[in-house]
Amino acid sequence: MAELFREVMGRAKEENRTYLMEHECKAVLESIGISTTGSEVARSEGEAVRIAEAIGSPVVLKVMSPEVVHKSDAGGVKLDLRGPDEVRRAYAEIREAFWGKGVVGVAVQEMAPAGTEAIVGVARDPTFGPILMFGLGGIFVEILQDVSLRSIPITEHDAEEMIAGIKGHALLEGYRGRSADIPALKGLLMRISDLVVEHPEIAEMDLNPVFLYPDGYKVVDARIIIGDAPEVAERIPPKIQDLHDLFYPKSIAVIGASGTKGKLGWNVFCNLINHDFKGELYPINPKAESILGIKAYPRISAVKQPIDVAVILVQASMTPEVVKECCDCGVKYVIVESAGFAEMGDAGRKIEEEMKAITDSYGVRLLGPNCSGIINTHCSMVQSIGIVDALSRGNIGLISQAGVCAAGMLWGLRHIMDFGIVATIGNKLDINETDMLEAVSQDENVNVICMYLESVKGGRRFIDVAKRITTKKPIVALKSGRTEAGKKAVASHTASMAGNDLVYSAVFKQAGVIRARDYEHMFNLSRAISKQPFPKSEGVFIITYAGSLGVISADAVIDEGMRLSELEPDLKERLLDLLPEYVGGTNPVDYTFSMDAETVKKTIEIGVGSDDVGSFIVILQAEILGSYVEPLGKIDYRGKPIMVCVAGKEFAMEDVIKMENVGIPVYQTPEQCADAISVMYRHWQLSV
Ligand code: ADP
Ligand code: MG
Repeated sequence: MAELFREVMGRAKEENRTYLMEHECKAVLESIGISTTGSEVARSEGEAVRIAEAIGSPVVLKVMSPEVVHKSDAGGVKLDLRGPDEVRRAYAEIREAFWGKGVVGVAVQEMAPAGTEAIVGVARDPTFGPILMFGLGGIFVEILQDVSLRSIPITEHDAEEMIAGIKGHALLEGYRGRSADIPALKGLLMRISDLVVEHPEIAEMDLNPVFLYPDGYKVVDARIIIGDAPEVAERIPPKIQDLHDLFYPKSIAVIGASGTKGKLGWNVFCNLINHDFKGELYPINPKAESILGIKAYPRISAVKQPIDVAVILVQASMTPEVVKECCDCGVKYVIVESAGFAEMGDAGRKIEEEMKAITDSYGVRLLGPNCSGIINTHCSMVQSIGIVDALSRGNIGLISQAGVCAAGMLWGLRHIMDFGIVATIGNKLDINETDMLEAVSQDENVNVICMYLESVKGGRRFIDVAKRITTKKPIVALKSGRTEAGKKAVASHTASMAGNDLVYSAVFKQAGVIRARDYEHMFNLSRAISKQPFPKSEGVFIITYAGSLGVISADAVIDEGMRLSELEPDLKERLLDLLPEYVGGTNPVDYTFSMDAETVKKTIEIGVGSDDVGSFIVILQAEILGSYVEPLGKIDYRGKPIMVCVAGKEFAMEDVIKMENVGIPVYQTPEQCADAISVMYRHWQLSV
């Protein structure tokens, strides 16, 4: 195959073409076991007839010209030709209609029997490189955008998900006597993925249409566009470092530390002191003798002690010089918290390049610029540019592109969420989100990772790294900038998908990353995952004090693809004994305002004993929430998660915080509870 591809490519190059012609594409595809209608080039009427006779009736004739992209729109496709006369006529018509339009010949090929039309395509995404697209032909792709995407290479499981993932999937399973050969289709997707891996110079490919049959398929039209093989740099792991000393430094210098309240250099230094960082601190400021009682130095070279991390807060224009001095002093990691770089335009970008050249030449790793440093509660280290109040030590690792998103929300969320590490990455000049993900995932204090991203710099490596981590330490990501992805006018449908937000959704799915819809969703999910075990089955047991909220919960559970659990007869008996006479139904169990902590505890314990109960949604009254904290906190749930819903929880925050602190997440609505449960259940399924 490689031989044939090289030959075809060579010819294209000779003829100054950046694309392969249909017959060349089909020959390449056939050579790797992909079934096509084939195609041969006729340069005269007589030749067309001869080829047609060899193929057998009926045949198809198509114009071959680099100037005609949509052949059928222009009348360049003649179908169902039977006998030499029809072939001759079609040939003449094509020659006449496209006279002077760069016609290089007329393609003659077998006419494939009608089947379900599908499209398979390849395009290069600016972030993730080659992506594979699959969809059903006609309006499904063009109007409904019903496609599935994956980054190449794909696994067999990815191929299955791509096929099952389109909305029109039912049509493939069988509809009005038609169905598709799913295993064959899977094979087609895998082969295309392999082909692109082997030939990275394939920039775009469009198999449109592919006819799907109950037994096999046929590629009817094919186009391949050739480009330069993309850089493979993203696939090579960067300098191997676990970044350990960045998270657990023994000494920190703060360059630009200030004794003046309100300055950022004051905030950062104050945070380090107030949170009681145990390592050495060196404030660097030429105008101060000491800052907050700690001896100050005029410059970092005056310290003469080993320094693991230097936090830099000087103005952007001075940073290259300061960074160089840090490198000269043997600093292991540089964190540039100052702003005014690439985010401000070209001048700032230039300064970044200068800094990068310096750190690269020393092999020193740089975090930022335009970030808010790192918080590691497990070593009492807070480098944030905003003042941060006391934090508890937790298991959530938050990686945030923006500083404000990380530290700004801590003021409130620290009451109900326990963070281990909060790492901000800013402009990602050197250390990017993927490096950070890899490093944070290695921290034994962290077992769920939350990411706020505006872009991904790690490319395909992000997928490979995330995939390795997420089944052990789930990753919840919020990717903003969804609406930015503009629609481009490009020749193929696959190309129009590149750079689209759908690619992010697909890639997250491929990697097993849970994509949060919004800011609140990200924290809702990571809170649940950080506090509760995963549901191991679909059955949800609902306990409520109000019928309406029970019904809403049941709807939400079903909508999320979960179901209501069914108690075994003996457990049902026990439950009925517990229920007041006027209470009907055993799931949801509706106590109609006659509920107390002891009853709920007993009810939950019945559910814990049932094989069909995988999780609990418990709806509690805000006004007596406090009375539930201890009893619910003490139950042995035997690995089954519980989510509490309190309508109006914002007015009962004191008790909500207590409940959260015994490890039970409290949500505003039944829908949020059901969502958390189903997301966790689906994620758990990835690992089994
Ligand atoms: P284009 O996409 O440039 O308009 P195609 O080669 O896809 O041209 O042909 C247009 C349509 O004609 C196809 O969508 C398909 O329905 C039909 N067609 C083309 N070639 C064949 C063939 N060999 N067998 C059966 N139908 C074909
Ligand atoms: Mg076509």
